[in-house]
Amino acid sequence: MTDQESRTASQIIRGEMPAGRVRLRTEPVLPVIRPAVNGGGTETRPVVFDIRDMAVFYGSNRALVGTTLKIHRNLVTAVIGPSGCGKSTFIRSLNRMNDSIPGFRLEGQVLYHGHDLYGSRANRVEVRRRIGMVFQKPNPFPKSIYDNVAWAARNLSMRARLDDRVEEALRQAALWDEVKNRLKTSGLSLSGGQAQRLCIARTIAVEPDVVLMDEPASALDPIATSRIEDLMREMRPRYTIVIVTHNMQQATRVSDQTAFFSVLTDSKTDTRTGVLIEHGPTQQIFEDPHDPRTQAYVTGRIG
Ligand code: ADP
Repeated sequence: MTDQESRTASQIIRGEMPAGRVRLRTEPVLPVIRPAVNGGGTETRPVVFDIRDMAVFYGSNRALVGTTLKIHRNLVTAVIGPSGCGKSTFIRSLNRMNDSIPGFRLEGQVLYHGHDLYGSRANRVEVRRRIGMVFQKPNPFPKSIYDNVAWAARNLSMRARLDDRVEEALRQAALWDEVKNRLKTSGLSLSGGQAQRLCIARTIAVEPDVVLMDEPASALDPIATSRIEDLMREMRPRYTIVIVTHNMQQATRVSDQTAFFSVLTDSKTDTRTGVLIEHGPTQQIFEDPHDPRTQAYVTGRIG
C-alpha cells in the first residue's frame, strides 16, 4: 500500500493531510485549515475573500456597485438586505456562478486567498470545488443518496476510498444516522430538510474551503430550519460560510459578521443599484448600526 492509499478520506476531508490529487496548474496553494478559536473577531483570522470595489452588471443593468469588504476564515458571514439589493448577485460572484448568465460582467477585484478569482489564470473548476454552493431549494439529483454525495468527487477524480469520503461528508452534514441503512435509495425520497443536508454533504464531499448558502432554509419548516442552523454552527470550525438570509433572527443566531446591502434608486434614470451599506460584527450591526439605513432595516422600519 502506498503512502497515499494509507491516508483515510476522513483525514483528507478534515484537511489534516493533502489530498492525493494532481494539483491543477492554476490551483491556489492554501494552508491547512486549523480549527477556529471561539469568538467572532476578525483580528487574528486570515482573509479568505478580499473584495475590492466590485461592481456587477447584467447587460446594461448595474446590479451592484462599489462593494468593498473582507471575509475572514472560519466565520459565518450573513448577507442581508431588501429584495433586489444584490444579495444573490454578491454571493454568486464569490464562486463565479454568474459567469454563465448572458451579459454578466464584473468590475473591480475579488481576491481569494490573494488570488484573483476573475484573473485569466483562475481555474473555474477548481474555484467551484474550493468554494461550494448550496441553493435555496434543495436540489438532489435523481440518483441514490450515495451517488449524490459521490457525484462531484467522482467527476473530479477524487475516487480513492470513496466510501469513507461519502460517510464522512454525510456525518459532517448530520445526515449519516438517518440514511446509513438506505444509501442506495433515491435522494429524491428524502424530506426537504434531509434533502438540503444531502446537498450540503454533496458540497463538502469535495473538501471545499468555503460554503456559500443562498437562503438555505427559506423553503424549510421551522424544525428543519433549526437543524440547518445547528449544522452551520457545527461546520464553522472547518469552513468559511457566507449565507444570504431574509430572516433577521436567523442572521443573529448563526452569523459572526453581517453585511447589509440596500438599493439606491436614481429617479432621473429610474434605475436601481445594490450597494453595501455596512459590514461588521453581527451584534454591532443589529444593536448599534452606524448607518441610519441599517438601523431602519434591522428594526423593521423598511424592508
Ligand atoms: P436579491 O438577491 O437581493 O433579491 P439579486 O441579486 O437577485 O437580488 O438581484 C439584483 C438585481 O440584479 C435585480 O435588479 C435583478 O433584477 C438583477 N438580476 C438578478 N439576476 C439577474 C439575471 N440573471 N439577469 C438579469 N438581471 C438579473
